[in-house]
Amino acid sequence: MDTAAANLTIKGVPASAGIAIGKPWVYRPAQAAVKPRSIADVDQELERFEAARQEALQQLGALASKTRAEIGQAEAEIFEAHQLFLEDDELIKAITHGVQSEKICAEAAVDAAINAAAAQLSALEDDYFRARASDLRDVGRRLVNLLLGVDTGLRDFPTHPVVVLAEDLTPSDTMQFEKSKLLALVTVQGGPTSHTAILAGSMGIPALVSVPVDLAAAERSPQVIVDGSIGQLILDPHADLLAAKQAEQAQLQAKHRAAEARSREAAITLDGHVVEIVANIGNLEGAQKALQHGAEGVGLFRTEFLFLDREQMPTEEEQTQAYRQIFEVLRGKPVVVRTLDIGGDKAVSYLGFKDEANPFLGWRAIRMIDGRSDVLLCQLRALLCAGVDADLRIMVPMVSRLTEVEQARSLLKLAQEQLQSEGLPACPSPQFGIMVEVPSAALVAEHIAPMVDFFSIGTNDLTQYTMAVDRTNERVVQIASTFHPSVLRLIQMTIEAAHHHGKWVGLCGEFASNPAAVPLLLGMGLDEFSMSSVNIPDIKDLIRRFSMDECREIARHALSLPKAAAVEAYLKSIHQHKQ
Ligand code: PEP
Ligand code: MG
Repeated sequence: MDTAAANLTIKGVPASAGIAIGKPWVYRPAQAAVKPRSIADVDQELERFEAARQEALQQLGALASKTRAEIGQAEAEIFEAHQLFLEDDELIKAITHGVQSEKICAEAAVDAAINAAAAQLSALEDDYFRARASDLRDVGRRLVNLLLGVDTGLRDFPTHPVVVLAEDLTPSDTMQFEKSKLLALVTVQGGPTSHTAILAGSMGIPALVSVPVDLAAAERSPQVIVDGSIGQLILDPHADLLAAKQAEQAQLQAKHRAAEARSREAAITLDGHVVEIVANIGNLEGAQKALQHGAEGVGLFRTEFLFLDREQMPTEEEQTQAYRQIFEVLRGKPVVVRTLDIGGDKAVSYLGFKDEANPFLGWRAIRMIDGRSDVLLCQLRALLCAGVDADLRIMVPMVSRLTEVEQARSLLKLAQEQLQSEGLPACPSPQFGIMVEVPSAALVAEHIAPMVDFFSIGTNDLTQYTMAVDRTNERVVQIASTFHPSVLRLIQMTIEAAHHHGKWVGLCGEFASNPAAVPLLLGMGLDEFSMSSVNIPDIKDLIRRFSMDECREIARHALSLPKAAAVEAYLKSIHQHKQ
């Protein structure tokens, strides 16, 4: 036993909150050693490289699908970004050039090209580029292992729960670990914006990065503590420290369990105001999870899953069956189904997307009505047929003008008329609403409100479009904040316009599950909060601690502040006092 490690506290950078206590397990990834070989047949070597590249693209596609199903769309995008590296012309050129001019084997050419590109990125002394360098090395490792036939499958992962420690963790490493056995993640390298940190946050486990720990000493500790909130790793803790951390962890868990025990009860404020809490889902599994966590319905059903990762459009029959299965699980609870929101960073080959300079501002979502209204009509027919007995609410994404609301309404009417004339049973009167996620829609919400039954505010995109920050560009993403007064004013305008016309308003962006935002949104009059199912118990618990008068006062003050940072700091201090 290395006594020097006893009760050793090491500071790291917090990457995901929470306390974990458990046995350590050090992950050492399989990495084939590259031995440069001279080759005689250049064409054959280039074919080997191309085969490995195609195989890597396929593996990453599968990882993206697994991540989308188990964690979420935003996290799946990590692997889609890895695919882009493999399609990068410069990188392919550098590798091809290595094989051709130096007559070296493909793995050596890959190794050299990836190392050179990653070193350039690392040298930029910038967290963002360092994180991308590590993504690039992950892609390089995948290619080299494929070229050398090294099996990277994880075979020795323990069967008991562990704290995983590693020099560095790539997102592909992280997705290999069995989720139910993962207590926390600790890495020697990496920054708080690394993709692994983001994955840990989404999985709800504590994580620390940039921890200067001797992995061998950590491995010899019978137990370690990870405090992801204050950035501490403690090796082999003394009994009194262990007891104190266990008590703190127990308190947090008890609070969460108490919230879970009441998750099926309504979220009612201290003065009796009832707030609707619903879930964001993406497939059948999501619908089941929503009910387990106490969702009162679905506030956002992202239908993209049916359309991605395939070569042809799903037929009307296929769609009807898929929607019906989900409606059956939800047993008459309200379900807001968003019509296809594809395009932007997510395009499929069979729908006729072209390369665009600015796809987020391009032909996407409801804008497809111009050119491919058949796709939307088919989806509307499937929804109406599947929703005969459901509380169906149809919602159109990316609306920027009243004209689009009129067009979408006409198409819905056409679908209803067609089904009626064909004698097919259909949902008699679905609600019709739009997402407010483009500033121009919020600014004319007063004109749109009479045309709809509801609004649902998409703060993820509303923030992106209001502040002109590409939400997938990590270089600038920290500029954007939903707490910014500009975004808050648009939210306020939307709620006021809806209420003025007697319509209800939900919010289905990430902001709905941000604990600091809860009293602000209540005070602004939001009727429905829609979020990832796992957050429902804690958000309901939080709502029960406020009165509406208190929330209105909080909103009034928050809306008077000039900067996002000031609003956020004020709301966080309120949240701290409610703990
Ligand atoms: C949003 O934009 O806030 C939203 C909920 O939609 P998505 O994240 O799917 O774009
Ligand atoms: Mg959106």
